[in-house]
Amino acid sequence: AQLDTLDLVVLVALLVGSVAYFTKGSYWAIPKDPYASSGAAQNGAAKSGKTRDIVEKMEETNKNCVIFYGSQTGTAEDYASRLAKEGSQRFGLKTMVADIEDYDYENLDKFPEDKVAFFVLATYGEGEPTDNAVEFYQFFTGEDVAFESGATGDDQPLSSMKYVAFGLGNNTYEHYNAMVRQVDSALTKLGAQRIGDAGEGDDGAGTMEEDFLAWKEPMWAALSDAMGLQERESVYEAVFSVSEEDERSPEDETVYLGEPTAAHREGRAKGPFSAHNPYIAPIVESKELFTVKDRNCLHMEINIAGSNLSYQTGDHIAVWPTNAGAEVDRFLQVFGIEDKRHSVISIKGIDVTAKVPIPTPTTYDAAVRYYMEVCAPVSRQFVSSLAAFAPDEASKAELVRLGNDKDYFHEKIADKCFNIAQALQSITSQPFTAVPFSLLIEGLNKLQPRYYSISSSSLVHKDKISITAVVESVRLPGASHLVKGVTTNYLLALKQKQNGDPSPDPHGLTYSITGPRNKYDGIHVPVHIRHSNFKLPSDPSKPIIMVGPGTGVAPFRGFIQERAALAAKGEKVGTTLLFFGCRKSDEDFIYKDEFKTYQDQMGDSLKIITAFSREGAQKVYVQHRLKENAQLVSDLLKQKANFYICGDAANMAREVNLALGHIIAEQRGLPAEKGEEMVKHMRSSGSYQEDVW
Ligand code: FAD
Repeated sequence: AQLDTLDLVVLVALLVGSVAYFTKGSYWAIPKDPYASSGAAQNGAAKSGKTRDIVEKMEETNKNCVIFYGSQTGTAEDYASRLAKEGSQRFGLKTMVADIEDYDYENLDKFPEDKVAFFVLATYGEGEPTDNAVEFYQFFTGEDVAFESGATGDDQPLSSMKYVAFGLGNNTYEHYNAMVRQVDSALTKLGAQRIGDAGEGDDGAGTMEEDFLAWKEPMWAALSDAMGLQERESVYEAVFSVSEEDERSPEDETVYLGEPTAAHREGRAKGPFSAHNPYIAPIVESKELFTVKDRNCLHMEINIAGSNLSYQTGDHIAVWPTNAGAEVDRFLQVFGIEDKRHSVISIKGIDVTAKVPIPTPTTYDAAVRYYMEVCAPVSRQFVSSLAAFAPDEASKAELVRLGNDKDYFHEKIADKCFNIAQALQSITSQPFTAVPFSLLIEGLNKLQPRYYSISSSSLVHKDKISITAVVESVRLPGASHLVKGVTTNYLLALKQKQNGDPSPDPHGLTYSITGPRNKYDGIHVPVHIRHSNFKLPSDPSKPIIMVGPGTGVAPFRGFIQERAALAAKGEKVGTTLLFFGCRKSDEDFIYKDEFKTYQDQMGDSLKIITAFSREGAQKVYVQHRLKENAQLVSDLLKQKANFYICGDAANMAREVNLALGHIIAEQRGLPAEKGEEMVKHMRSSGSYQEDVW
């Protein structure tokens, strides 16, 4: 019998699958953003002339514990800071936190025996390292690890190194916590001695914080044994000194009023624009895509002409948000700093290794509005650290209880989706004036840019980037208030303002639309671009299958726009099949009319199959439509179609992944596991790609 491509692929998949299992995919874990890390490294230690030698740095600064972090969204960095603080306050360790890209790895074989290195490592996307950990990851998981001294992997060169490891992952992704697992096994293989278990936090199950808290106690006990540490009564020691500079006016040109960098403050920001240097981009058009009143989905066009920024279809754009004025006010009130919100503050690291995470000097108002993630879910450890500064005994007792009792904390705070200020307001109406501002900087993340899958084609709109964003406004079970997403509500306000909508201030959130020193006036927003591997095949005649319900359709609008333009130019375009799902065809079927135009340009090569979950007696989702069209899908795969999924990682992507495995197995007459293996193989060979969040 003739073997067709798919059968061959099955055979290869079995072989590759077993290699994949034993190597945990390390051979093909391509870094997501090869540009980011080198650029950032230059921005870091090297550029400023500081040492990249961690052994020397620890010696110089008299440290015996370094906590490296590999962080994408700031959580790993936050955990690293928390571990550093705890190590110092409870166990007298001399700790420092280090961005893993600021140091070299070739001399870690000289890491002294009486010190310890922590690795707090997030896994990103498909089992990949975070941008700042790409080089570290490549060094340790490469074929031959060789150190400066000449020692190699065979000699157990790290035998003097003690280390602690914690990973941040998401079990809805296939390579769960791949980063920490691979690094842990590489370090062990090189002879390093792990203290305690390698912890794993699971964002997918929503237990990250609790996993972290549960892991760290036995780890501290093991570390105390290994290093002979004595636990002591912990007293708060500020990491930063925050001094009010009464003589300096907030209008003084040296003061950061929300600008991302010094160059922005001085009005001379120039490229190259990057994750460290956003471009203040004009929004040239914005509109609502839903036809219903109670939910919003934004389409925005961002102009990058003249910025020297460029993108490719399938890339991501990051938007740097501003916190809602109403939440800034609440926060300042709760901590009793409302009256002095415009006072200039100067923030310095008390220890030489402490990096001040926000630009300084600034004002309380600007710090809270532009630089601190004040609306995020609250951590139990942070609540507990506020107890010492409670305004009265009853509040103090309540905070201690919340800190110690996980279930109580969930019932009273987490399930209600409070941010920190709402949580404290639920305890007492007294302001928490005694809380040092340093503790707030330490306990809250830096305000993070949010990513959006670019929904335009770079071939068609080289200088204009489209965003398709659903506005987060949900009443979660247990919460009495609407939980408002930071960035999407800010974008909604910008859209309202731009269109002169009757309610420029949706939900009374009050944004500073014109930005620091009015620099965002005329509807501008800070952005940077992140390159992704989510790409169309280079040959447009190759068929593609796309599954993108809701805003998951964003990158596929770009894909289709591109193929329609190619078809209009007379190029041969392969079958372009989109599975789209939403609630109702007349409510949230976004880009419905636009797709009709593409259909005219592409004719039969564009097929859109829809699933409307709230139109029939039964809920129909994209995975059901996929199964109904099993034969079509299977035929296209035989023609080497690429398969793409975009959107919800937690449920949809998994369901679609399973459905695809079923389809392949059923259509090929293979056992179910073989279908799954095939999908895995497609993933590793790049013909199955996910862009999920
Ligand atoms: P956030 O403030 O970040 O809140 C997010 C969610 O967290 C809220 O909905 C709420 O459920 C929960 N939450 C917030 N505060 C609390 C609290 N105090 N307690 C409990 N829960 C809370 N989105 C799109 O719409 N379109 C896209 O094309 C798109 N592409 C993406 C591509 C990538 C690679 C990634 C990583 C994400 C993408 N996203 C996309 C998601 C997007 O980045 C944002 O996460 C989303 O817009 C929400 O941002 P936000 O700032 O409005 O909400």
